[in-house]
Amino acid sequence: MIRTDVPLAPFTTFRVGGPARFFAEAHTLSDVDDAIAYSRAHTLQLRPFGAGSNLLIPDDGIPGVVLKVAMGGIACEESGDTALVTADAGAAWEEVVDSVTERELFGIENLAGIPGTVGGAVVQNIGAYGAELKDVFEYADAIEIATGVGRRFDKAAAAFGYRDSFFKRHRGFVITSVTLRLMRHAAPNLSYPDLARASAAGVPCDTPQDIAHAVRAIRSAKFPHGIREGTAGSFFKNPVVSRDIAAALVLKFPGMPLFPQGERVKVPLAWVLDQVLSLKGFSMGNARLYEKHPLIIVARAGARAEEIDALAREVEQRVFATLGLAIEREVETFGAQV
Ligand code: NAP
Repeated sequence: MIRTDVPLAPFTTFRVGGPARFFAEAHTLSDVDDAIAYSRAHTLQLRPFGAGSNLLIPDDGIPGVVLKVAMGGIACEESGDTALVTADAGAAWEEVVDSVTERELFGIENLAGIPGTVGGAVVQNIGAYGAELKDVFEYADAIEIATGVGRRFDKAAAAFGYRDSFFKRHRGFVITSVTLRLMRHAAPNLSYPDLARASAAGVPCDTPQDIAHAVRAIRSAKFPHGIREGTAGSFFKNPVVSRDIAAALVLKFPGMPLFPQGERVKVPLAWVLDQVLSLKGFSMGNARLYEKHPLIIVARAGARAEEIDALAREVEQRVFATLGLAIEREVETFGAQV
């Protein structure tokens, strides 16, 4: 059922922004079909979303159809050493992590504690503590908005990149379900410093559930989950640069940690914002960089999307002026204008 002029702020974790001119919530595949048919019949743009945990809604709202994907089923099929888990796109990512780790399956335990839905996890190719969604992705089913026709995307078609996918670059599909391949046996991935430290300090990190538990404990100490203010987690991506640029950066900023990614090198932006630009807690209007983690923007109650955008642009300009790096946003802004 299509509703009109529905405020979107309560559907997002930033809790800012204006209304959707048209709004629908899909609990079944046929609800998705209906919303797509409505948008096509009225030549309106349709924008799907899940938990709104990586979204900035413009203050003026969205003129087309906004579709909340809310189907939430999870099914698991085990066979020998692997298991295929199929989750509806609107299932909470945390529920998938729970259901997989309870079965003692490895593959997504390092991705525990990330807010959002399964569909969002694929769009974003979520990553944390050395694991990425793409590592376990088998396929996703989606419906093309322009035609209403279904299509299955394998890993090659999903074209994953660093916090990036085909679905992020081409907004023409509604993901309806996702299938992941998990493993019965695997070596725990404790490559990230926080997790390695926890393990060395005696925190159990043997089973998938142990690791998910450890990751959640680390995350809850430094990421603003459940605070009263609005946030969409990391607002910016870590820049990935050539080796030459990385070498020049470390000469100019001694002590800068760098992480090789094949031929390229990842620059930890939180370190830059803190150690080079001293921007922890930096605020403009009702938006600020979180004191415990400056990659995260938090918005006070009553903040406007344009205040968040202004702060983000200021950070982008300062990073460019001092390091010569054009940083990209991880958070998506619905609509062309904020
Ligand atoms: P950290 O361990 O303090 O490391 C800082 C940065 O260095 C991270 O951004 C990470 O990149 C990179 N890094 C650290 N060790 C690495 C290694 N062994 N190999 C490659 N890259 C490495 O990280 P943090 O900022 O506390 O974040 C921990 C994890 O949570 C990260 O993976 C991060 O992406 C994720 N995170 C999620 C949110 C959220 O709210 N959703 C917010 C911040 C961070 P990557 O970011 O590419 O992993």
